[in-house]
Amino acid sequence: MEFSERVLVLQVGKFREADVWVRFLSPTRGLTSAFAFGGSRSRRRFVGCLDLFNEISVRVSASKRGSYLALQEGALIRGLGRLRSDWPRFGLAVNCARFLQSFGIGPEGAGEALFLMREVLRLLDEGEKLPRLLPLFFRIRLAFEQGYALDLSHCARCKNTLSGASERSFLLLSEGRIICSSCAGTGQDRLLPLGGEALRALEKVALLPPSEWNQVGLSGSGVQEFARAVDGFIEYHVGVAWDKGRFVRR
Ligand SMILES: [Zn+2]
Repeated sequence: MEFSERVLVLQVGKFREADVWVRFLSPTRGLTSAFAFGGSRSRRRFVGCLDLFNEISVRVSASKRGSYLALQEGALIRGLGRLRSDWPRFGLAVNCARFLQSFGIGPEGAGEALFLMREVLRLLDEGEKLPRLLPLFFRIRLAFEQGYALDLSHCARCKNTLSGASERSFLLLSEGRIICSSCAGTGQDRLLPLGGEALRALEKVALLPPSEWNQVGLSGSGVQEFARAVDGFIEYHVGVAWDKGRFVRR
């Protein structure tokens, strides 16, 4: 089995003296790992390829018994610009890449995930001003695109429109749905408040390309509500949480 594809490098590790282990995102296979034998020495077969967040074209083949994949050669399509030496921005990129790996991306949805990650890297590389909650924007957008839908315009119970800045709505954690304040008074449900500002921010992050996420305005309490809702939604429904400096699957 052999294939050639344009992929995005998400993790690189050393394996034995001269060999390298690479985890990348393929548009048709999702997250994939492969060895690059001689990768740390063979500069000819992998010229400038095996660095984090490079977009590369690779030829990959399976081992005889099919137990692992090996990169045969690669060519750099797009590397990083200022992101490579801008540590705060690089850290944000690593955070997004780690979340994506904890999330787990299979063949289905791989194309969308690759497109989103590439757009976020471009924003980190070229954007003058970054949205303050960029990692959270990335997490919820990825979840939305990978099938964890959330109706942001209607109450899940009475079906009334959720509208107006003063109208408070709530994220009903156990169902991953939003309900209005009239429907929120009953029962022992675990509810996270969502004011108009946080709700509109969710709508914008779901719709706008990352390059326009700067338009998402959030002030003090809106930031908190947005962050708690995203973390709660992701932990409860996707099963991924931030724990002691890394993402873990629950
Ligand atoms: Zn309602």
